[in-house]
Amino acid sequence: MGKTYQNDSIFSSMTEQEKALVAAWSDHSRMWKDNKWVYPVISRRAGGLSIGVNLNPDHKCSFACAYCQSGPQDGHPSVPIDVDEVEKELRNFVEFYESGEFAKCDFFGKVAEDKKIIKDLCLSGDGESTIVKEFPEVCRRMRQIQKEYQARHEGSSDPQNPASFKLRLITNASQLGRDSVEDALSTLLENDGEIWAKLDAGTEEWYRKINRSPVKFETILANLKKAISCHPICIQTMLCSIRGEIPGETEILHYLENLEQVYRTRPEHFVEVQLYTVIRQTATPDVFPLEKEFMEQVAKKITDSLPVKVRIF
Ligand code: SF4
Repeated sequence: MGKTYQNDSIFSSMTEQEKALVAAWSDHSRMWKDNKWVYPVISRRAGGLSIGVNLNPDHKCSFACAYCQSGPQDGHPSVPIDVDEVEKELRNFVEFYESGEFAKCDFFGKVAEDKKIIKDLCLSGDGESTIVKEFPEVCRRMRQIQKEYQARHEGSSDPQNPASFKLRLITNASQLGRDSVEDALSTLLENDGEIWAKLDAGTEEWYRKINRSPVKFETILANLKKAISCHPICIQTMLCSIRGEIPGETEILHYLENLEQVYRTRPEHFVEVQLYTVIRQTATPDVFPLEKEFMEQVAKKITDSLPVKVRIF
């Protein structure tokens, strides 16, 4: 793992349980025991345990973000997806969670109980899930696992085994306009599902610098509007400095206009905006975090112009 941008003096004054929580938040490893596809994350954004499904161990992505933690796709051999194995790992992990064993194991054992309650099964990984041809079948099986869990825990008052969890897709939005992807999402998200989609730019120019994708920026915006018309969406926005350049006033102004267009398409489906900055050294040099004050200023501009919730991470 690369260098973490962490305030050591704050860290040293924390309790052991708080330190365990910060360590769990900081651990973005997509490896879990002998698993190839499924991994647990204690997620600040999800508010508890997120069971991640990584369909891109080969780092295949339609973007090449300057801040990507996964690093470039080059050098990673192609990995064929075994849908049965993905399902098996998911089922095994959900069962492991329900047994109470997950809460006791490894360094997750030290994390406070209420911070490791299952919140979602989440398609998220080292690349972009929606470009994988097995994506629809994986969505179908995830929904089936959710249904079976809900049947086992209907009306549950056990805080460790809640009645349900969400199904989520974390995506760069490049494929959301495709009918096959929308069909898969209509299954995945039909019961308490959400898309967490990337929108990092206001202008094509900054989009080229930060996301470095061959997909046109106007396509990303059209995809976001199409997706929010059908599903709840949270917008995730990375704010960072790239080779000494930060998003300027005009860039932020255009970003707000884009956000508003997405919001106005279907306000009741707009969940929130998550602003974040770089917390670890990135694969590309010269990409650095922005100050808390900058993040707060952008958050204020958003809430001044739109009635939406904004969280900073
Ligand atoms: S979309 Fe995600 S995985 Fe793809 S390059 Fe960007 S940060 Fe990396």
